[in-house]
Order: sequence, then C-alpha cells, then structure tokens
Amino acid sequence: MSAPVYRLENLQVRYKDRLVLDVEHLEIGEGSILGLEGPNGSGKSTLLRVLAFLETPSSGSLHFMGSPAESCDLLALRRQVTLLLQDPYLLRTSVFENIAYGLKVRGIREGLKDRVFHSLELVGLSPASFAGRPWKSLSGGEARRVALASRLALRTPVLLLDEPTAGVDAGSAVLLKSAALKAREEWGATLVVVSHDMAWMSQVADRLLAFQEGRPGRYVVQNRFEGPWFEQEGGLVSMKIGDGQSIVATKPPSPGRTGFLDAEDITVAVLKPQGLSTRNAVRVRILQLSLENGSGAVLLKGACGDRILTARLTRSSAAELGLVPGSEAWFLFKASAFQWE
Ligand code: ADP
Ligand code: MG
Repeated sequence: MSAPVYRLENLQVRYKDRLVLDVEHLEIGEGSILGLEGPNGSGKSTLLRVLAFLETPSSGSLHFMGSPAESCDLLALRRQVTLLLQDPYLLRTSVFENIAYGLKVRGIREGLKDRVFHSLELVGLSPASFAGRPWKSLSGGEARRVALASRLALRTPVLLLDEPTAGVDAGSAVLLKSAALKAREEWGATLVVVSHDMAWMSQVADRLLAFQEGRPGRYVVQNRFEGPWFEQEGGLVSMKIGDGQSIVATKPPSPGRTGFLDAEDITVAVLKPQGLSTRNAVRVRILQLSLENGSGAVLLKGACGDRILTARLTRSSAAELGLVPGSEAWFLFKASAFQWE
C-alpha cells in the first residue's frame, strides 16, 4: 500500500499557552475525501492551515507523502496544496484573470485558456458566458465557485476547502460537491473539507471527523434529549417526547442534564415488539432514509410528534425491514444507552 498523503503523530498547535489543536494520530490516504465538522473554535481551520504548511506545529510530527515535512523545502510543499479559505476574495478583474492568475504565478502559460475554461466547467459555470465577466457582477454562490475554479486550475494533489458551502444557495452547493468529486476523479486529488452542512458533507466525504476543543473524534450521529427528566422508580428517569409517548433512562447525574443517544444504539423493528428487555420502544413515522457515505450505513429519520430521531443501521438490515418514507416503525433502545452531558 502506498504511504498516506499525510501522517500526523501527537501534533499540537498552541497559541501562547492555549492548546488549540491536539491530534494524537491521523492518516489521510491518497485520493480520500475527509470531512471535518465541529463547533466554532474547535480547531478545524487550524488543522487546514497545518496541512497547507502555513502553520508550524508547536510539537509532534507531520509527514507528507512519506517524508517529514520539516525536512522538505517549504515552498515546494506549499505548491502541492491549495487552501480555499472560508471567505475567499476575488481579484478585482475578470473571471478569466482570476483563474489564470495562479497559473501565471507558477509560470504555466501553455494551454492556459483551456485550463481556465475547463476549471469553469468543473464548477458548473459556462466559460462562454462567465470568462469575460467582471468579478463584481457575480452572485455570492458564483463568486465562491470562481474562487474554487481558480484553485482547481492548479490541479494540486491536495485540496483543502474551508466551509465552501457557507452562505451559498442550494444549487451552488450541489455544483461545489460535484467539483470536489471531479477533482478526485480527474487527477486523484486528496481532499479535506470543513462544513457545518452535514447533509452535504455526508455526500462528499468518505470519512468524517468531529472536532471538539482541538481534538478530532469519530463522528457519531446522536440524538439529543434536553432535560428536565422526571424521577421514576427503580433508579430511572423519564421524559415525554411527543405523540403521547415517553422514554426512560438510567439516572443522569442530575435531572436537568441533556442525554445523548447514539444513532447506532437504536434498533429498528417494523412490528411492535413483545416482551423485550429493551426499556424503550418508540413508535415513529419514517421520514427519510439516506446513505452514509464511506461507511455504507443507512441513516433512518423517524418522527415522533415534533421530534425527529435518527437510527443508524446496515444497508442489509434496512433492506430487510423494507421501510419507506411514510411507513411506521419502532425504535428500540436501552434505558442505559444514554450518555450524559
Ligand atoms: P474553527 O475553524 O474550528 O472554528 P479555529 O481553528 O479557527 O477553529 O480556531 C481554534 C482556536 O484557535 C480558536 O479558539 C481561535 O480563537 C484560536 N485561534 C485561531 N487562530 C489564532 C491566532 N492566530 N492567534 C490566537 N488564537 C487563534
Ligand atoms: Mg474555521
């Protein structure tokens, strides 16, 4: 197997004394698309800057294509990677010049026009009508696509996209998604993408990491139950969740706490279960089935009154259950399956 494009070991970034990025171990394989999500300030952009060689880690090691990054020429490294910033700006000139600029800086003159036009096509903008347009005539979504086109034109092995879909229209989000996938398809690009739009991201990324206070963790889909909970007998608490139904949980540290239930801790049944030891059986109406990219698992959204619960199951069990939107199902989970905030 070829060496991963990136390998990070015990890598940390500190600002003054504050630890803002803390990655124990992370490998990013060639041609993979890694998605990053997490609250603001959790270190996602910092990681992208490290991967773009714009930020030197305070400690730990960073390998790029099998070699320690510090042993390589920094300029040569930076040329392997392009970073599309969260708020990309365009040069105050035509769309064509915006895209051609990076190529000219790198001394690429041959086939310049073809490369610019092809990049525009990749982001779904027709070269005939857009190449000559001035930057200020573009909508927000178009400007974002031109900014991406200018990075795609460089055809670097690595593309880092920081919240490419923030504030763009739905149509542009779809085009940004297909542009990202085409970069991998056409020249085997490796991508790392940050987004808050999980629906979009789950269609783009092969693998998702959830950032929390500088640390990447496995991404799990969770259901959230905000307290208060009400004390019951036998060391249990309960909560009404809509549609006249309630759930029980083993006792939280305090009744006001929020409980989290992993989507994969829910089993799904079509008929009401009889005499099971599982403490919770919630009747839901199926709203949506979607494929989780990379894992191949199916995410099943079911409504119970105003509340939407998500269960995660394998594709074969989803097929066996034969569920379709609108059908009724039972979500089963243990009282002890909750994690407390
Ligand atoms: P995210 O992209 O997940 O929102 P960032 O990586 O931008 O998070 O930021 C992580 C933390 O590092 C935040 O607390 C932020 O305030 C801090 N930070 C980012 N850049 C700097 C900087 N240049 N100097 C000091 N603190 C910074
Ligand atoms: Mg950020």
